[in-house]
Amino acid sequence: MRIFIVLFAFLLLSCSEKPIAKKTVVGIIPYKGISSEKVAMLRNSIQEYYGISTKLLPEMALPRQAFINIKSPRYRADSLIAIQQSNMPEGVDYILGLTEIDISVTKKDDDGKVKEPEWKYNDFGIMGLAYCPGKSCVVSGFRLKHKDKEVHFGRFKKVVIHELGHNFGLPHCPDKKCVMTDAVEKIKTIDDARPELCNKCKSKIGIVLGINVTIADTEKSNKKNAPAIAGASNQQNQCYFPTTSLCVSVALSETMRIT
Ligand SMILES: [Zn+2]
Ligand SMILES: [Zn+2]
Repeated sequence: MRIFIVLFAFLLLSCSEKPIAKKTVVGIIPYKGISSEKVAMLRNSIQEYYGISTKLLPEMALPRQAFINIKSPRYRADSLIAIQQSNMPEGVDYILGLTEIDISVTKKDDDGKVKEPEWKYNDFGIMGLAYCPGKSCVVSGFRLKHKDKEVHFGRFKKVVIHELGHNFGLPHCPDKKCVMTDAVEKIKTIDDARPELCNKCKSKIGIVLGINVTIADTEKSNKKNAPAIAGASNQQNQCYFPTTSLCVSVALSETMRIT
């Protein structure tokens, strides 16, 4: 009997610690400018990959209070995820903002000071930002562009899965093929990673192997709906895991545009 109680308590504890379950709902905010086809494809990827539900929230403009124009007109990602989190609708466990507009953040070192050189990192263009762990994240397609739309979509999906992974409590992963790998300032790192978690990361958040299909499978079914994306990019990217509990996917190419 005692063994049964201990086992029951253990199972109860294990379940309650998991950040996601089938009933988990990720609310999606499509910020004006992103196509409904792309949003639908990304929703599908989240649902099928993580085995959770999504809820499409009304399209909205990026909030004015997040706007900044230091180097170029864009929106602060740290403000966006804070605003999203403070306006969580009922029935939503996590909230993800999707945009094609450039987003930025101040990149800090381990001491909390703006990383040097300050002119470069004070307002730094990024691909995504997430609380880790937390309830809110944002992903921008601005620095994920590629002349091949499939490459672009693949990058977008990887960053979405990556940032949600941070929300679910996953840190960066040493496995370079895992979608939670640190991109270490190279877009190639993102392109080389598989669009899925390694087994260790899966087990950390309780994904049962075999239940979730791979994103590659959903790509096949969504190809015909993929909108055309123009423009190429050779952007360098970095994702780091600072002590501020934010995780940032950063594009370094902007340094090449600054004089
Ligand atoms: Zn991993
Ligand atoms: Zn990251």
